[in-house]
Amino acid sequence: MTTPSFVVLKDVAKRWNGQLGVEGISLDIPEGSFTALLGPSGCGKSTTLRLLAGLELPDEGNILIDGKDVTTSAASDRNLSMVFQSYALFPHLSVAENVVFGLKVRRVPKAERQQKLHRALEITGLLGYEDRKPGELSGGQRQRVALARAIVAGQRLCLMDEPLSNLDAKLRNSVRKDIKKLQRDLGITVVYVTHDQTEAMSMADTVVLMKDGHIQQVGAPEDLYSKPNNTFVAEFVGAPPMALIGSVALGGFGGGHSVGIRAEDIDIVAKGKGRLSCTVTESEFLGSETLIGLDHKDATGLCILKSGLSMMPEGQLVDINFHDDSLHVFDEAGQRMPAP
Ligand code: ADP
Ligand code: MG
Repeated sequence: MTTPSFVVLKDVAKRWNGQLGVEGISLDIPEGSFTALLGPSGCGKSTTLRLLAGLELPDEGNILIDGKDVTTSAASDRNLSMVFQSYALFPHLSVAENVVFGLKVRRVPKAERQQKLHRALEITGLLGYEDRKPGELSGGQRQRVALARAIVAGQRLCLMDEPLSNLDAKLRNSVRKDIKKLQRDLGITVVYVTHDQTEAMSMADTVVLMKDGHIQQVGAPEDLYSKPNNTFVAEFVGAPPMALIGSVALGGFGGGHSVGIRAEDIDIVAKGKGRLSCTVTESEFLGSETLIGLDHKDATGLCILKSGLSMMPEGQLVDINFHDDSLHVFDEAGQRMPAP
């Protein structure tokens, strides 16, 4: 049985005076799923989200939410909540008043408002800040107020545009888990914009990777990681990213132009026993493992991971080896080719 799509974008395009925003955006988003729009700055993530929200109108294509064509509907008629980069809080209202503002407008009874407020403030770590004004909060705290406001809105669809970008790394990590848990518990549909692949990969059921206004690949995080459609996806997804080796260095392996390999699929072997000879460029201690950067004239991004603290001297020569079945072959245009 297939889940009917809750949010559908059909061949959506948006331009400004002929300048491309996004083009050919088609997505089917099931209800209760978490979809991340991922990609570098300027690739069209916010534009796609704003089209979905009704803050921009598309030049081409259709947008459906819950079976209804909302392509030209006002934002207020789309039954969704939003958390954007700019917090858009009322400066003269307290944290509590800001969070329950929408509920008050909708005449939700006070007891229910209080209960939802408490839960939302708890989730966002804002208990004790109820009476502060936005001006008395840090940027990160303001962003959490905006999150709390979206949480209490109780809409089935929630759109988020880089909501964690103002938080410090530790808080970002914990709020990330909270958002994910909340999305699951409430069964809401989240479309979440981020340029941070770790965030997208750890939170989303489906990742939509974009570049220059176009979708590059749509899939589960593990699909993008293990079967990238092209070299852009290969190099954008994963930490560290996939290394690319000119296929000449591997005797024309697979008949393609370049060959991709992930750090965990590379072994250091005895001198003369490897497929490539490289030079150590750097050792980066990450805690549970050490990332060893390697240089080879026909490759970019080559590295290996060693467990624990395992530094290697810069300039040391190493031979590396890998199995054919862990190699990804790409053609001249960077597109994935079938495994040889
Ligand atoms: P992202 O959110 O991925 O960083 P955006 O969706 O904000 O990217 O922008 C995509 C492209 O559309 C960029 O080239 C940007 O300059 C352009 N763009 C976005 N909004 C406007 C606008 N209001 N007017 C003109 N160009 C815009
Ligand atoms: Mg943006």
